[in-house]
Amino acid sequence: MAEVEFSDVSKTFGDHTVIPGLDLRVRDGELLVLLGPSGCGKSTLLRLLAGLEPATGGTIRIGGRAVDALGPGARNVAMVFQNYALYPHKTVRGNLEFPLHMRALRRGERERRVLEAARVLGLEDLLDKRPAELSGGQRQRVAMGRAIVREPDAFLMDEPLSNLDARLRVQIRAEIGALQRRLGVTTLYVTHDQVEAMTLGDRVAVLRDGVIQQLGAPADLYRRPANLFVAGFLGSPP
Ligand code: ADP
Ligand code: MG
Repeated sequence: MAEVEFSDVSKTFGDHTVIPGLDLRVRDGELLVLLGPSGCGKSTLLRLLAGLEPATGGTIRIGGRAVDALGPGARNVAMVFQNYALYPHKTVRGNLEFPLHMRALRRGERERRVLEAARVLGLEDLLDKRPAELSGGQRQRVAMGRAIVREPDAFLMDEPLSNLDARLRVQIRAEIGALQRRLGVTTLYVTHDQVEAMTLGDRVAVLRDGVIQQLGAPADLYRRPANLFVAGFLGSPP
């Protein structure tokens, strides 16, 4: 695990500046929620961090090391998307093992990581099943397992609950929180959902048009919003 730091990071698509220049430090082992309305640049920030998209300016550091010149494969971060696509023809074991095939890991080490992820996520009894035989919640757990097996420096989660129904969302949200605390992996969690942010975040950064409006503990943001946008977005009492 490692600290993640954005220093004056900007992103422009054509003549559209999505992120004008952002500073943010995610502490070692914390779960920081990036909260903001649709289109404010949340996914873009995660994609910059993952190396899926080059930043226009600034520096991104993971564990103190600048990663701007590194491709996605060389950044030890794992992304959990809203549209988690499992391989339908592979078993749970095969899905969990897949991210490890690109690594020069011994078979025994691969096996150890897969079993550890299955244990942590309660998937031990499902290792030989295929995705079609799983519930939505179980599939989401496999998606998280694929992130865990890589033993990443950081988790990047992009609205991982948005495809789930309301009841499952509450359950998986609690599981993500418990899992993150147990593993202590630095996590940047993106959502437009205030309840998710307030429930899960050690700290929450409220984003509007690529600019952080306020960063702090959930209760502090709610009680002492920095401006009307934050107050309105969080539903703080007037
Ligand atoms: P969020 O995840 O907060 O909903 P995004 O980061 O997906 O927002 O998008 C922020 C803005 O950047 C939007 O206006 C979107 O249209 C724009 N954008 C994102 N990706 C691209 C791209 N590849 N090309 C052009 N514009 C993009
Ligand atoms: Mg998004």
